[in-house]
Amino acid sequence: MTSPTSSSETPVRARAEGDGAAESTRPQIRPAAEGWEQARTVEGRPLLQFASPRVKQPPTHLADLSLAERAAKLKELGLPAFRAKQLSTHYFQHWTTDPQAMSDLPKAGREELVAQMFPPLLTEVRRLRTDNGDTIKFLWRLFDGALVESVLMRYPGRITLCVSSQAGCGMNCPFCATGQAGLTRNMSTAEIVDQVVAANRAIAAGELGPQEHDGERVTNIVFMGMGEPLANYKRVMGALRRFVDPSPEGLGMSARNITVSTVGLVPAIRKLADEDLPVTFALSLHAPDDELRDELIPVNNRWKVDEALDAAYDYYRKTGRRVSIEYALIKDMNDHPWRADLLAKKLNQRGRGWVHVNPIPLNPTPGSIWTASDKPVAQEFIARLRAAGVPCTLRDTRGKEIDGACGQLAAAD
Ligand code: SF4
Repeated sequence: MTSPTSSSETPVRARAEGDGAAESTRPQIRPAAEGWEQARTVEGRPLLQFASPRVKQPPTHLADLSLAERAAKLKELGLPAFRAKQLSTHYFQHWTTDPQAMSDLPKAGREELVAQMFPPLLTEVRRLRTDNGDTIKFLWRLFDGALVESVLMRYPGRITLCVSSQAGCGMNCPFCATGQAGLTRNMSTAEIVDQVVAANRAIAAGELGPQEHDGERVTNIVFMGMGEPLANYKRVMGALRRFVDPSPEGLGMSARNITVSTVGLVPAIRKLADEDLPVTFALSLHAPDDELRDELIPVNNRWKVDEALDAAYDYYRKTGRRVSIEYALIKDMNDHPWRADLLAKKLNQRGRGWVHVNPIPLNPTPGSIWTASDKPVAQEFIARLRAAGVPCTLRDTRGKEIDGACGQLAAAD
């Protein structure tokens, strides 16, 4: 990490869009990558990578397929279709791919069948736990050596897993370690699903403390790990289907307990709204003005704040699901009172009761421009939103002590 340079700290007289007089002489820190160079286009804009490089794909796994596709595949292998249900039960209900545990399958050919349907996708490289064990960060190696993470967190009444959807990321956000190396590749549906099954296995083995009771499993999933989920639309959609498909075809989870978070890929948000899958939708906004957001979230150069908010609002109208706006409060960068007012204004212009703002406190990181807002500043930001009638909840930053906090600013420090 390098220290912020004087060129990135410009005292400005900021003016709230449209409402005239709100002025501030607070400093305005400009977003800048620290200790690495953001890849740029010939015009000097941060490079955005939407398409995954054409690289070798992981082998097909049972979780890539619907129940009908599994039955078809087994038929190709000369096996009866009902084996599809048996194999699905082992994987989606008992979290096992161990042929020894599948005594309902004929012994002859069992190992070969299991190898065919459950090729190993995730190899555990490292596991970090918080002191009381209520948060575990897994580091996984994929079949081609790419590394991804997932973070498992126990809260009162729920267990949440933060999953990755891409190896690397093409969105090039200046604060993000994941984006530094660009997009390695899209993860497959089964690679996404297998993170949840592996977490369920760890829970069943009693590894997530403090222990509560038997029969626990992941109840909530958030797509806030590595990658931009809507840039890997098809495979993420496949994973969402597996999550909500009734057991044993899938995990039988509730769509409302699954949160898809995006930096604002507008056409994909609109597509998601048309799927019959009322997942919770979160927009990582982090700035209400295009001037700042163009630099903070480079995809804003493609789809502006108002376009992203319109798409988010339409998501609410189509699905009836209240939208979350993620807003990491970064000292002197996006935490100015006029920005709280502008955010409230833009949200209220579209309607009431459709949205909830989650301000995310960053870790204090001395010497970095990516550091936590001062407490009174954060409090004022929230108070202004609330005063304007916008519901607001300061998010839990569990996992930060093991550097596994989710949210789009996870890798800032
Ligand atoms: S913050 Fe999210 S969208 Fe941006 S580069 Fe990192 S992983 Fe990608």
